[in-house]
Amino acid sequence: MSQSKHLIIVGGGIAGVTCAQSYNYLRPNDKITIISQSPLLKSVFNVNKISKTLEEFQVKESNVNDLFNGEKNNNIEIVISSVTAIDTDKHIVYLDDNVVNSKSELTFDYLCICSGARPNVIKIENVELQKYIIGIRDTETVKDLKERLLGARRVVIVGNGGIALELVHEISMCEVIWSIKDNHVGNAFFDSDAASFLYDSKHLGDGGDQQTKKDDSSLNLMIVDRSLNGEDLPMSNRSSIGPQWYCKYKFIGGVDASKIKTNNNGSVDNIGIEYETTVVNLLEGDSEYPVYVLLSNGKKYGCDFIVSATGVLTNHDTIRTIPTTSATSTLECSNDGYIVNENMMTSVNDVFAAGDVADLSKWPNLSPLWFQMKLWSQARTMGRYTAQCIAKHTGLPYTDEISTRFEFEIFAHVTRFFNLKVVMLGLYNGQQQQQQSSKPLTIYHKVKPGKSYIKITLNQEGRLIGALLIGETDLEETFENLMMNQIDLSRFGSDILNSDVDIEDYFD
Ligand SMILES: Cc1cc2nc3c(=O)[nH]c(=O)nc-3n(C[C@H](O)[C@H](O)[C@H](O)COP(=O)(O)OP(=O)(O)OC[C@H]3O[C@@H](n4cnc5c(N)ncnc54)[C@H](O)[C@@H]3O)c2cc1C
Repeated sequence: MSQSKHLIIVGGGIAGVTCAQSYNYLRPNDKITIISQSPLLKSVFNVNKISKTLEEFQVKESNVNDLFNGEKNNNIEIVISSVTAIDTDKHIVYLDDNVVNSKSELTFDYLCICSGARPNVIKIENVELQKYIIGIRDTETVKDLKERLLGARRVVIVGNGGIALELVHEISMCEVIWSIKDNHVGNAFFDSDAASFLYDSKHLGDGGDQQTKKDDSSLNLMIVDRSLNGEDLPMSNRSSIGPQWYCKYKFIGGVDASKIKTNNNGSVDNIGIEYETTVVNLLEGDSEYPVYVLLSNGKKYGCDFIVSATGVLTNHDTIRTIPTTSATSTLECSNDGYIVNENMMTSVNDVFAAGDVADLSKWPNLSPLWFQMKLWSQARTMGRYTAQCIAKHTGLPYTDEISTRFEFEIFAHVTRFFNLKVVMLGLYNGQQQQQQSSKPLTIYHKVKPGKSYIKITLNQEGRLIGALLIGETDLEETFENLMMNQIDLSRFGSDILNSDVDIEDYFD
């Protein structure tokens, strides 16, 4: 058996690049080929490990020539092309014939599909009007949005995830109609209390910096103890979060500044929210607006264009599997991508998947405190873990590395919304538990308006199953430990959020 293997990775996003870097470390003499549709590959920088499971980092797009120069042993080749088909029996990937200078096929020993996802843009019957709807996914689409906004008077934004939540607040000099299907904003990530906190903190900040004028003693400190009820809807796992992608851009419309309304507190009032609505249809424009949007509540809005921020579709359906006779050669898929086992292997031997395009829901021993969400943090974790799984699968020696399997024990993500640090740990919204058990969960809140928001969720046995921390709370490690230890915390009651009680000391 040859000691040198060839790993092909499809996709140059975070999952693909992390997988390549990790595999190159583990088996430096193996050849790695990344097939990327774009000459710009995504990578992470400014990594800040803030606890065992939480890692804060930034994402950048790098030119292929710059990215792998510093690698230990540069056996990494980049092919700019698109994979159109995979022959799983013969271990061949077929590349897009239309790409000049690209090879037409490549053989692999192991394949890792990291083809990510694309925006799930609203589709309407009148295809002529489809051009007025845009989705946001990458730098190109963000630039397109910025250009379309120049001269625009009104834009309709559809969706209630992180991208929509932030985008509506970044647009100036243009009226925004925000259509959301829920009865509160930010539902894809937060319950109504957390969403209101973020929303209010944004508007407090806009209105003359009220946060900095208050000192701590004047802050309204609330500790609320209540049980989860039907109002806290489970979170969709198909949305993307988007805290800082817009920072490089200014989204300025074409409305005369003197015509923009302001609130009593001085903040700009250019956002109109249409709750519990969906887009029913688009109608032909007239001399006033190029297109009209008909919402499910019967209202009709003329606008310049529509931003569809309604989640993503995974890119597993864009790659054909060459028909083969044996059932074991077919890549099993769900709506959420390629189904993988606990070693990130698809239903076909030697073929792996990672990142947005992998569906981990069939893992037999999936931790009850972890769930999948399409996030950079999970794409990176999966890329790293999959590289280890592939190295192990070769059956050949590889550089020892500490297992990354524990990163699937607790859902952990840190991000920023409206410049506030947001830490999500475990079932921070009581996800799944609510459906699985009729017994109520206990939730404690501690809120300092405009500053911080803490919400923790205990199950019926008093064990911590989730924490949402907004602002500089400095509590992430404590709650991560309590979640890992699964100690019964019921005796503390709401004192668990009392800063005078050091829970960790107590257990030490
Ligand atoms: C606007 C926006 C903002 C976001 N912001 C955040 C954020 O701030 N924080 C966060 O955690 N998450 C964020 N997300 C989600 C995050 O981007 C994804 O979870 C993450 O990028 C997934 O990484 P990936 O490598 O699996 O896929 P991707 O990053 O989608 O990369 C897949 C790559 O594969 C390529 N590809 C696809 N098909 C083929 C093919 N057939 N052949 C060759 N190449 C192919 C694609 O061109 C792409 O380059 C955001 C998402 C969006 C849309």
